[in-house]
Amino acid sequence: MNKKQKNLLIRILTAVVCVILLQLFDRVIPSWVFRLLLYMVPYLIVGHDILRKAWHGIRNGQVFDENFLMTIATIGAIGVGIYNATHGGDDDYLEAVAVMLLYQVGELFQSYAVGKSRKNITELMDIRPDYANVEENGELVRVDPDEVEIGTVIVVQPGEKIPLDGIVEEGSSSLDTAALTGESIPRGVSEGSEVLSGCINLSGLLKIRTTKEYDESTASKILDLVENAASRKSHSENFISRFAKYYTPIVCYAALALAVLPPLILAVIGKPPMTVQWIYRACTFLVISCPCAVVISVPLSFFAGLGGAGNQGILIKGSNFLEAMADVRYVVFDKTGTITKGNFEVSAVHHSPLEDEKLLEYAALIESYSSHPISLSLKTAYGKHLDTERVTDVREIGGHGITGKIDRVEVAAGNERLMKMLGIRYINCHHAGTIVHMAIDGEYAGHIVISDQIKSSSAEAIRELKKAGIEKTVMLTGDTEAAAKAVASEVKIDEYHAGLLPADKVAMVEELLEEKRTKSKLAFIGDGINDAPVLSRADIGVAMGALGSDAAIEAADVVLMDDDPMKLVKAIRISKKCIRIVHQNIAFALGIKILCLILGAFGIANMWAAIISDVGVMILAVLNAMRALFVKKL
Ligand code: ADP
Ligand code: MG
Repeated sequence: MNKKQKNLLIRILTAVVCVILLQLFDRVIPSWVFRLLLYMVPYLIVGHDILRKAWHGIRNGQVFDENFLMTIATIGAIGVGIYNATHGGDDDYLEAVAVMLLYQVGELFQSYAVGKSRKNITELMDIRPDYANVEENGELVRVDPDEVEIGTVIVVQPGEKIPLDGIVEEGSSSLDTAALTGESIPRGVSEGSEVLSGCINLSGLLKIRTTKEYDESTASKILDLVENAASRKSHSENFISRFAKYYTPIVCYAALALAVLPPLILAVIGKPPMTVQWIYRACTFLVISCPCAVVISVPLSFFAGLGGAGNQGILIKGSNFLEAMADVRYVVFDKTGTITKGNFEVSAVHHSPLEDEKLLEYAALIESYSSHPISLSLKTAYGKHLDTERVTDVREIGGHGITGKIDRVEVAAGNERLMKMLGIRYINCHHAGTIVHMAIDGEYAGHIVISDQIKSSSAEAIRELKKAGIEKTVMLTGDTEAAAKAVASEVKIDEYHAGLLPADKVAMVEELLEEKRTKSKLAFIGDGINDAPVLSRADIGVAMGALGSDAAIEAADVVLMDDDPMKLVKAIRISKKCIRIVHQNIAFALGIKILCLILGAFGIANMWAAIISDVGVMILAVLNAMRALFVKKL
């Protein structure tokens, strides 16, 4: 509990004690004036800030809010009490005090709940690094991560957070990546491993050469993303704030009408007008109509849903995407790096005039600047140091491959399409796998056959998607028909399209967008390499294992922090749960409201019933909203 909440709690308790004392000694209070003054003590202790806020609202022209409702209702109730007292009736001020008191109990509870779910999100924020250790003249100096330049060697001791993305130069250790990926199994790293900021170094001392500045590092990117997420509103939230804008004035005028019209009509038809009774009913009506349960619980549910997803390594960039995710019926997958691991292994070298080793060296060199899974694998397969200064004029052509110069000789590496584009006669390969054709100095230089593996959870993810109500799964790939067909039948995907350029993938997604039913949504999931345009074209773009790729984090609406396709299933389940909670809360709160309003208008529900139902509904709705946080087991 923070200071403000403690303060409010103390005020509430003091007021409760006052009220109890007043009730005990009620008989000995000599006059109604005295009683009124005494009851004003707890009323002001617990409600003075509400009165002040209402007054500010009136002065700033924003009259109709909950503070105004509570103020008018309680002052009205006190007025009725005074009238009764001076006309020989019962002077009951307890009701007004109780309304304020219970309203504040609700406020306290709500602010506690919001704080709690915010804390959950800030646990993610725990990835914010405070300092970086840099070695200067043999001594470790703590500096602001913001000031560390690319290429600096930083030292991360066991127990410390890695402040910047980089590559391990020295040492080995295991890393706790839970804050980033939601995955609790530690990850081993050693010399040459890439490490991401936000992970915690568990065991050994690491010297890391940074590859990014702080602003470009994973931790700070994720923080940006999370901080901005709550500001992108869902339809439901927008609906609620529009609803409150019209609803509150309407109930205020309705209450006014309830106080004035029936007495007038009764007077006109010659019956006793019972004005005081109708004013009291109008006050009750105001208390009942306070919309807080709905107004607070809907954004809180989304907030909790975003937080819960974040803790599982699923970053959703806004409530609007969380909402859309629940309506996904078509899921379109990229192949390489999404359904397959993207760790190709070189399985053969064919038809090359060069030695295998030499061809592989050329391939690795020309690919040295690319981050495509194919190029990473070729570099790993070659395994030796690459002198990148020998490489110039590199051009990476999406969906084709790479061209450039090595030692001033033209080299090209890519698929059949690239060879056709360059006008080079190539030899077809009949092996299963992805083929990288090579050309050196305009002459065909053979091909490297590399094969990829399907991720262990891909088939399960597609099965589970079906269970979660997905109507159609589609795989798009720039790879060959043969490679695509093998993967598609292995994981039982409904439909596949091969040989696509990045632009063809966009066209394909557009076709699917036309085909699906209008209200349902299409999600595209890819690794962000060669597919940023599709990520942004789909209703929801999901980037997986995207911690490294900036383009993907930019273009995607949902970022899965590791590359397990089951996370997509989880993201859909989380959003469905969250939306279900939102709908439950709206229906429940509005239902009870309408019922109480009707009962109140007929004088069946008094102010006690009104405030208890209001606070009760609010507490139940908030508790229900908090359920959206708990998604670990989904
Ligand atoms: P996918 O759709 O499976 O993710 P991409 O669109 O990234 O694949 O690439 C399609 C095809 O283009 C690859 O299968 C490969 O033949 C070729 N290609 C793309 N980039 C490269 C590269 N860097 N080196 C060699 N071939 C490449
Ligand atoms: Mg790809």
